[in-house]
Amino acid sequence: MAIKRQSIRKGLLAVMLVLFQYRLFHLFFSPVLIVVAASQGIVNGSLLIYALLFLSSLYFGRAWCGWLCPGAAINEACSLVVRKRCSGGRADKIKYVSSALLAGLVGFMAIRAGGFHAVDPFFAVDRRSLLQDIFLLIGGVAIIVPLAFFFGRFGNCHYLCWEAPIMIVGTRIKEMVRWPSLHLTVNPEACIGCGECDPHCPMSLPVEAMVQRGSLRNTECILCGNCVDHCQAGVIRYAFGIPNRTSSLPRRPENAVE
Ligand code: SF4
Ligand code: SF4
Repeated sequence: MAIKRQSIRKGLLAVMLVLFQYRLFHLFFSPVLIVVAASQGIVNGSLLIYALLFLSSLYFGRAWCGWLCPGAAINEACSLVVRKRCSGGRADKIKYVSSALLAGLVGFMAIRAGGFHAVDPFFAVDRRSLLQDIFLLIGGVAIIVPLAFFFGRFGNCHYLCWEAPIMIVGTRIKEMVRWPSLHLTVNPEACIGCGECDPHCPMSLPVEAMVQRGSLRNTECILCGNCVDHCQAGVIRYAFGIPNRTSSLPRRPENAVE
């Protein structure tokens, strides 16, 4: 099951990366186009997708990052050769700056345009922009790969990604309100301390220590399930439901997913 689920996840990421090479698809993930559209008072497809990412995070946290993001596909490829763990820590906050800068720029442009007055999901679909193509097709690789090599696995997801904070806000909301959502449960008493989970976490989280603390809640967790699938003792499980305060698992819940 472990290999099968992770194979499916990596397959999905690969498909998303291939789709991303098609112009129609990457029009929906362009921060540049959001700004250009906002300058004309238009809500474009990318902004709608970012809104959908936020809505999805209210129920699925950062599962998008772990299962569908084309950038994560590039990071997974880097992880085949990069073994260095990303130290994270306070530097993780840098990505909030990139997100705030984008939000500020979009807001500024929209105000200058007299506010948003139209929605056009296919904005710029018939326009060719060499700059945008370069930014999306080559720029993504040019940014993500060096960050992985210099700072460690999934360095872009830790430090730079402007989409991550959108989903972190949604994750925080779902944890505060505590409605049914996807999360991880742990059973610390079953942990045999083998340490297998730590090296398999793509976000370099101290999984074993988190298990001992009784909770895997962490804004950097992308719900990839590697820790679930590499724990032979079955300590960590996916669950969909209302998480308890610590997301610990004193006994097997009915909604646990193998
Ligand atoms: S804690 Fe587990 S689910 Fe979260 S990122 Fe690490 S391996 Fe993936
Ligand atoms: S892989 Fe499982 S048993 Fe081993 S340290 Fe991690 S949580 Fe504990």
